[in-house]
Amino acid sequence: MSNRSRSIIPPNLAPQQAKKKPMKRTYRTGDQALVREINLSTILRCLQSAEGYSRARLATLTGLNKTTVSSLAEELLNRNLIHETRQDSSGTGRPATLLEMNPEAGHIIGLELGVDFVSVILTNFVGKILWKQLKNIDPETPQEAIIGYTLHLIDKARTANLDTGIRLLGVGVTLPGMVDVETGTLLFSPNLRWRDIALYEIFHNHTGLPVYIDNDANAAAIGEHLFGVAQGVQHFIFLSMGVGIGSGLFLNGQLYRGGFGIAGEIGHTNLMADSNRPCRCGKRGCWETSCNQYALIERARALLDVGHDSLLPKLMLEQNSRLTVSLIAQAAEQNDEVALEALADIAAPIGMGISNLVNIFNPDMVVLGGMLSLAGKHLLPTIKKNVNEYTLVEMRQTLNIVQSDFGPTANVVGAIALVVNAILNHPNQVEVSATT
Ligand SMILES: [Zn+2]
Repeated sequence: MSNRSRSIIPPNLAPQQAKKKPMKRTYRTGDQALVREINLSTILRCLQSAEGYSRARLATLTGLNKTTVSSLAEELLNRNLIHETRQDSSGTGRPATLLEMNPEAGHIIGLELGVDFVSVILTNFVGKILWKQLKNIDPETPQEAIIGYTLHLIDKARTANLDTGIRLLGVGVTLPGMVDVETGTLLFSPNLRWRDIALYEIFHNHTGLPVYIDNDANAAAIGEHLFGVAQGVQHFIFLSMGVGIGSGLFLNGQLYRGGFGIAGEIGHTNLMADSNRPCRCGKRGCWETSCNQYALIERARALLDVGHDSLLPKLMLEQNSRLTVSLIAQAAEQNDEVALEALADIAAPIGMGISNLVNIFNPDMVVLGGMLSLAGKHLLPTIKKNVNEYTLVEMRQTLNIVQSDFGPTANVVGAIALVVNAILNHPNQVEVSATT
């Protein structure tokens, strides 16, 4: 499978030159091959969003004639992207054979590079996790060593995949930062403190596979739309809440990228006029500084320091752990007052920030993911209370604020979605053979 949407950055390009140019308007002209590609994509997307359709039903849904649909289905069958399943006898005529996405069309490797961890998963074509591994990393580890860990984990995923005998369709990579998705370059990650890294080149050269790289919240939004709670939702915002707060703005049925391609850096808006906390981006008072996972831990620590009774010291001792989001979530489950108060304290500014997003974008859904969603159940009541308080009542008519079913793994599932989404757009780039 080729990957024509990416260009490899020449090795001699100095890092400071690897800056993104403003997006150019391009005009796409149509020929028969393009029309066929679009139609293949339409059929595959129809099947991706449903349990199964007959060829006749696909013709009705898409407006294409039955002969064309049969020809397109044949090509998708040859590429092993779909398969024939059961007979549908619900209609009045002869039973029809149903077509579905083929879960074993190929396997995919997803990688999330976090501030203090690397997570790698191997899934099938419909996002089912077959293998996973997470490595915690000291954030002070040199960049080269962290990239070495990621490549090592990808190698382990490939080894795990060898036993299955199924081809690999690609590698998806997400990380917290601004990404030029056309070249696969990380422009700047305040929380990783990385700048101008030609990631596509690193991962493609190592694996020889198609590689897709995007901001973590953008990827997670695509993941929620393909596999998660936002399937079928045309206007929603995904919030990745962890070391920072990032957003994926999914508007009018597609991801909104903005003029420079880096929209959604909501964590660096200044929503709390009275906050003066330094942010890793270099500014002060950014929204995420008042409600990221460090703010939660700091708040719990402050309550412990003034002598509040809590299960947390016992949990830390038992689990030989420092104070973490996971421990605070565990304590909250046991109604620990310190944990609950700290969570409510950060949920309030999260809710205020979300209310601003709701007033601006009028989404039907806000999906909460990232590390803080480990305690999402305890954050949601205060978040919803603040959203009710600060949004216009009309904005709440269709609004639903929910947790991602994937919780802290939403971003790495999003990495998988980057590959699936690319194949849904260009199914004819997948080779006809079933194995590699
Ligand atoms: Zn900032």
